[in-house]
Amino acid sequence: MILTITMNPSVDISYPLNKLAINDINRVSEVKKTAGGKGLNVTRGIKYSGIPVLASGIIGGTTGEYIQKQLDKDNINYDFYITQHESRNCIAILHEGNQTEILESGPVLDNYDVNVFLEHYQNLLSQAQVITISGSLPQGFPVGFYTQLIEKANKYQIPVLLDSSGKMLLETLVSKNKPFLIKPNKDELQHIIQMDIDPNDVASLVKAVNHPLLNDIAFIIISLGKNGAFARCHHNYYQVSIPKINVVNPVGSGDVTLAGLAVSIYENEPIEVMLKRAMTMGMLNAMESQTGFVDMRNYNEYYQQVRVTQIN
Ligand code: ATP
Repeated sequence: MILTITMNPSVDISYPLNKLAINDINRVSEVKKTAGGKGLNVTRGIKYSGIPVLASGIIGGTTGEYIQKQLDKDNINYDFYITQHESRNCIAILHEGNQTEILESGPVLDNYDVNVFLEHYQNLLSQAQVITISGSLPQGFPVGFYTQLIEKANKYQIPVLLDSSGKMLLETLVSKNKPFLIKPNKDELQHIIQMDIDPNDVASLVKAVNHPLLNDIAFIIISLGKNGAFARCHHNYYQVSIPKINVVNPVGSGDVTLAGLAVSIYENEPIEVMLKRAMTMGMLNAMESQTGFVDMRNYNEYYQQVRVTQIN
């Protein structure tokens, strides 16, 4: 199966309002609460693709129980390390065409939790063929924590797909324990390599994926929103273009794109198929209002419209 890691999951609450009244009472009737966190979006994307998946990470308290109930409802298997600390809530207020977010940073954990989770993770490795790691770390975890997860997976030759950013991503790039695949978006990669990237200029994209920091990463997929993606897989470059779609809510598109990549690697598909699958998943998510949801009935229609061009 594919093991997905979400270290700081949340209950995502959305409050739709006609108008946000500041310093006043706002009453809301249509509250939506879902199990959130980037890794749980990845998990759902894999589940929709019909591939066995197990969600892991750290949860706790009544919020943690709620996350488990939501995953039960979706028939998703999970095996979390459960702490005494309450998992977080993330609130999105949708008003006047805007989205105002209030994001709890989540529990503050310590070295004890780091060690117990590492043991928990080690015990799951024997079941995993592919691992995805997404999002940020809980407070109290060392910034290089993902390199420890990657090191353990690499010992068993389990490919790790990492979707993280900033220092957490950088730590893995400078470590000798490299992920098999990274999927930064343009801004995340620009930040890491300290270089401007022009998504419409192939030379600029080639230069970016050849940055010395990325030398030993087998697969680099830069997701480019409506511009599709650019990839370096081993020593080959691929430009991926996608059709114009009716975008409803693109949040979480990168997560289900990672789900598509994981499914393809699990299924041993050719690179062109992998890139088309990943882009199709991202587009299907962008066409839905619910974050991390895809309607697989539209899969073939959009898959046919993705173009992958290998660049020499
Ligand atoms: P997030 O952080 O919200 O999960 P991301 O920034 O990591 O997203 P994007 O590059 O925005 O990832 O999107 C991933 C993929 O989803 C794109 O490569 C594309 O296939 C699809 N996608 C996202 N936004 C759009 C859009 N506006 N139009 C068409 N496709 C889109």
